[in-house]
Amino acid sequence: MNEPDTLGASLTRSGVSRRSFLKFCTAMASLMALPPSAAYAMADALNRAQRQSVIWLSFQECTGCVESLTRSFDPTLEQMIFEMISLDYQETLQAASGEAAELARKQAMKSSYGKYVLIVDGSIPTKDGGVYSTIAGISNYDMLVETAKGAAAIVAVGTCSAYGGIPHANPNPTGAVAVSDIIKDKPIMNVPGCPPIPSVIAGVLAYFVTYGKLPELDHIGRPKVFFADTIHDRCYRRPFYDQGKFAKTFDDEGARNGWCLYELGCKGPTTYNACATIKWNGGISFPIESGHGCLGCSEPNFWDKGSFYQPLPTPLADNAPVIAAATLGGIAVGTVAAVVSRKHQADISTKEEK
Ligand code: SF4
Ligand code: SF4
Repeated sequence: MNEPDTLGASLTRSGVSRRSFLKFCTAMASLMALPPSAAYAMADALNRAQRQSVIWLSFQECTGCVESLTRSFDPTLEQMIFEMISLDYQETLQAASGEAAELARKQAMKSSYGKYVLIVDGSIPTKDGGVYSTIAGISNYDMLVETAKGAAAIVAVGTCSAYGGIPHANPNPTGAVAVSDIIKDKPIMNVPGCPPIPSVIAGVLAYFVTYGKLPELDHIGRPKVFFADTIHDRCYRRPFYDQGKFAKTFDDEGARNGWCLYELGCKGPTTYNACATIKWNGGISFPIESGHGCLGCSEPNFWDKGSFYQPLPTPLADNAPVIAAATLGGIAVGTVAAVVSRKHQADISTKEEK
């Protein structure tokens, strides 16, 4: 059997110059807040690395996560993604269908057993023997368990596979659960978002290929480098928020002047994601820049938290002391929500560390 291809050889064959490759590594290092020297280390490691085998399973989902990745407005980045990995199985993108597709999955598992990264989008239905979503007659549950066995690591892409997402919302008729509710013996990273930001998916894959491990994760399995801050922490409308200038309707003068959308239901203060910094559509914009509040799509249970247009509830009953202290200090209501959210996250982390 031939030796597996190195990424460097594959890139050279595809006519990708060293300069473009370094540019890509610099962009990836910068995205992940690594020091500039890390770009060279990353280029060196990626050059020698074998293309990472990836098996991508799509379960109970809308295909938005795959659409997000493939409709990236940065073709160079997208090309790099497909050079960096060997996407050995992906139901939406692969040419094979029917029995040939199933064979492709089995072959990919066999040839890279113990080494492949398993990416999953979509939740997994568990009610009634998992009959609500099957592929080739196999329930999503059984396919996940079988494919996870040979995976070096699992990346749950999108809020559905990370936390159950929309299929998990009340009354959850299919008994939808997240990957981490089923698989307990493998490293799992959650990259939530409905859908997730394409550059974030590329960034975490580049990290895995470079360092052979997942990046540091927070208490709910998200890569800290992309999910450490709330949307509110980095929002360009924040100065208006701090001045107490809030749009009251989507077409009033405040809205036209770009004032804060808190009173129109923005969930930015309690939502951890990188939309305000990395943005969407090749870095052009993000939902708040387009005039709509954040829906909180990357948070667990976001669909069950009430209307998207209902302002965040304050005070939250079990955080009265925090709210009282913050309010006494003259801090506006959205900041209080953010303080409460951070305290809640810190409490969970502390509990899990014990
Ligand atoms: S509440 Fe929303 S619109 Fe206002 S500053 Fe925070 S994230 Fe931005
Ligand atoms: S701004 Fe909020 S709702 Fe919109 S994509 Fe980002 S996290 Fe999701």
